Amino acid sequence: MTVDTAMKRLHLISFGCQMNVYDSELMASAFKRRGYGVAETPEDADVILVNTCAVREHAEEKVFSHLGELRKHKGRRPDVLLGVTGCMAERMGREIARRAPYVDIVAGARSFGDILDLAAAARDHRGPVVSVGHDRPPPERDVSVRRDKYRAFIAVSRGCNHRCTFCVVPRTRGDEKGRALASIVREVEELVADGVVEVTLLGQNIDNYGVDRPEGEDLHHLLHACHAVDGLRRLRFVTSHPADMDPRIFDDMAELPKLCGALHIPPQSGSNTVLKRMARGYTREEYMDIVHEFRRRFPAGEVAADFIVGFPGETEADHEQSVSLLHEAGFQQSFIFRYSERPATTAARRLEDDVPLPVKAARNLHLLKAQEAVSIKKHKTMVGRTYELLVEGPSKKDPAMFTGRTRGNHIVHFPGGSELIGELAAVTITDFSPVTLRGVLAR
Ligand code: SF4
Repeated sequence: MTVDTAMKRLHLISFGCQMNVYDSELMASAFKRRGYGVAETPEDADVILVNTCAVREHAEEKVFSHLGELRKHKGRRPDVLLGVTGCMAERMGREIARRAPYVDIVAGARSFGDILDLAAAARDHRGPVVSVGHDRPPPERDVSVRRDKYRAFIAVSRGCNHRCTFCVVPRTRGDEKGRALASIVREVEELVADGVVEVTLLGQNIDNYGVDRPEGEDLHHLLHACHAVDGLRRLRFVTSHPADMDPRIFDDMAELPKLCGALHIPPQSGSNTVLKRMARGYTREEYMDIVHEFRRRFPAGEVAADFIVGFPGETEADHEQSVSLLHEAGFQQSFIFRYSERPATTAARRLEDDVPLPVKAARNLHLLKAQEAVSIKKHKTMVGRTYELLVEGPSKKDPAMFTGRTRGNHIVHFPGGSELIGELAAVTITDFSPVTLRGVLAR
């Protein structure tokens, strides 16, 4: 099987989470090694890949409407290869080729390591090539292929051993598989040598890292090993699971200065009844114990959350429990999602999706407003204080301003100079909105 070297440019569209962005970079790395350049638009591409998410029904419908748009390019240039990869591809398989018969490649979240061979096979056979249900190693990363010059993500594990009743991830990505610690550290070293100053370690359940590793390494060892990489300035990790958090991680945060005091630890709900139906494996009280302990150890630390509203059986009283948890925990940021039934999950099989859409929408808005109130209160206390920022570049809305991120993940805009991009700068907060802060360089 050969790859047609006339195919020279790849256009990649990524939906969903940071893991998908990372996987897209891995696929782009594989194509780059075969001599492909980057096509900024689908019109200029010889291969178009859409890397998808299956977490919500809405995300999947968005992909189909996007595919409808991309079909036009195939109409104009039938030789263009169109592929669908990622979690939706893994979940739906041939069904995608049936609904969108112009798609050439369907490569699931566990098969995209074979993307070059699949592209070659699609070209040879002139028909849809479908690969799902296989566990293939992902392609090797070319660290120069990344979205951001100074910040990078690294997947340290894939899949999940939990079985939250609403979640498709264990089905699409399989049981948890951790990477060897040495290969992760090597990737950090390569990224730092290429100019990266901040690395975020990614796992569906990062606290469980190493559970399947024969050498017995765990997140604690991994954080220490990555922290030791010369030239790295900041280290983060996501996503934490309240049932699996190892208390030693707080000691690591205290001990390792590059490790940012920020947790992303989704409660999903503030109601014990709902948490039980979700099979999350902890109670509201246990969740809050973690947050209180974190705050006791790191008063300036920040916690981000995910919530699902309108889970089957969620009452108004359950919802109010989520609102009160949000206030009690004082989250820096909350990602709020309306429950969406996913085929073949336990919730879809056993629980009726009985919260009407308008109620889900109202609860979503209510939680957003609650988060806005918490953010305003938090931002007020930051005015007049000085924070370390990693300067990312000019602000998208106002090119006269520059944008950076605090260790706690707050976005700050300030008047600066391009010489600061990629540097750590001290900025004093002067003003704020519910979502961002403004400041000036500290003297
Ligand atoms: S912990 Fe639960 S929600 Fe998170 S990936 Fe695993 S099964 Fe899904």
